[in-house]
Amino acid sequence: PTSLTFTLSQYDSLPIYSSQPLLLRADIAMYRCKGSHTKIRVFSEELDQHSVQRLSLMSELKEALIDGQLSLHYQPKLSLSSGEIECTECLIRWEHPEYGMIRPDEFIGLAEQTGSIRTVTQWAIKTALEQQARWREKGFLLGVAVNISALDLADMSLPAYVGELQTRLRLPPEKLTLEVTESAVMEDTETAMLALENLRRMGVQLSIDDFGTGFSSMAQLKQMPVNELKIDKAFVLNLASNQDDQTMVRTFLSLAENLGLTTVAEGVEDQAAQDLLARMGCSRIQGYHLSKPLPVEAFETW
Ligand code: C2E
Ligand code: CA
Ligand code: CA
Repeated sequence: PTSLTFTLSQYDSLPIYSSQPLLLRADIAMYRCKGSHTKIRVFSEELDQHSVQRLSLMSELKEALIDGQLSLHYQPKLSLSSGEIECTECLIRWEHPEYGMIRPDEFIGLAEQTGSIRTVTQWAIKTALEQQARWREKGFLLGVAVNISALDLADMSLPAYVGELQTRLRLPPEKLTLEVTESAVMEDTETAMLALENLRRMGVQLSIDDFGTGFSSMAQLKQMPVNELKIDKAFVLNLASNQDDQTMVRTFLSLAENLGLTTVAEGVEDQAAQDLLARMGCSRIQGYHLSKPLPVEAFETW
């Protein structure tokens, strides 16, 4: 079974063997193993339903990229000191011809498991930078932030890919921020550190996303070549009414200050939270109160 699963894992398009029930079922069980980080999983009918749909979705992902079914939505980050929008986060959307809008939470994890995440990440970075170049032509040099996954930090060709695009489009490196989750950075510290250092040397900005949900130590954080801490929305959504959240956010902000990092609070849904964060000294905010992520035309109007 071990060699079977390894052989199968090289394919990310299911239809090749979808007519062969044994292989199909082994494949479904394998994906369940990967998803739940267990080594053995026995196939059952109940696993089938969901998996078949998800697996066939994955085989469609690369086509969707070529076909223009993927797009980026843009959500502004407001600088509390200048009152200006200096940067926008780019969030991926998949408009599937049959299933409608598929949220990133539903396919990014799968793309990581099947190895298509690199293609997705490269597409997102290229699309964001080309958009940035178009905005610059209109007179706005707006920063863009793109989410990358833990696996991208093991991709040694990523820094060169970013660098070549920025040179070709004549864009300043510091106007790109890569957001990477706290857990991703901590997972494989050595490789991740190397990748982060390469990007940092190029001048690209780095942000630790979902901060507060992982378990980084002070010592690890101090060594990270990052510029920004992005406080997870779990601590921000009810900030105005929750004393514990206020204590946590205050702690994160002073931690960031001591490490010389700027801060972003995501998930700001009301003015009360925005006012509190301004008083606490947070550098930037992001959230529905300001704007939801918007398609490019709507974002430009906003
Ligand atoms: P994230 O990077 O933590 O992004 C924040 C998520 O919170 C986004 O969900 C955003 O729409 C949502 N959000 C923003 N403001 C508010 C608010 O005020 N209240 C609430 N309740 N939610 C808010 P979205 O767009 O569904 O993205 C989910 C996750 O998918 C992202 O979490 C990110 O981890 C991942 N993702 C999105 N685009 C990409 C991408 O291009 N590449 C990779 N690797 N991951 C991506
Ligand atoms: Ca993010
Ligand atoms: Ca988050």
